[in-house]
Amino acid sequence: MKTIVRIIMAFILLGMCVWTYFYLRNTFPVSQRSPEAYCFDNMWVLGVYFREWAEDHGGAFPFNVSTNDGGARELCESDQDGFAKDSVAIFKSMRANVGEFLSPWVCPLDSKKRAASWDNLMSKNITYRVHLGTNVNVANTNEVLLYCPIHGYLLLSSGDVVDRQRKALPAYPRPFLITKPKPKGD
Ligand SMILES: [Zn+2]
Repeated sequence: MKTIVRIIMAFILLGMCVWTYFYLRNTFPVSQRSPEAYCFDNMWVLGVYFREWAEDHGGAFPFNVSTNDGGARELCESDQDGFAKDSVAIFKSMRANVGEFLSPWVCPLDSKKRAASWDNLMSKNITYRVHLGTNVNVANTNEVLLYCPIHGYLLLSSGDVVDRQRKALPAYPRPFLITKPKPKGD
């Protein structure tokens, strides 16, 4: 008889553990996110930043717009692969449009430290590489806009984040911080 009671107790305990696991997972989904999901989120958020900015600048991204018009063109230098050597000016030019500081510039698997504020944002706080070129604009939706050198993920001008082979990534649930997703083809 005692054995049966013990078995029942064990099942109840197990049930409570399972319930607690699912309860915590649903209550704190962000803390459970994989580095891949975090990186995807970062790039997706940066895509929103870029596209919002471009909306106010005739579909052009900051690296194709003069500093006189709020862009960063004169401050951009391309490396041999067509990426910006330093992208701080590009991101900082979007500050007015973005407003709140979410610091999505560091891939979670990068050893770089996150900047605490817009003012502190420097190269050493940025993982993602910005792809330069006059053909990189909102209209050319298949152009690479941003690249994670760690995961190989690509942010396209369309706002989509894809893998190296340009395959769609799993549909990670959106982070709770983001309340304003951009409709596609906007
Ligand atoms: Zn990454």
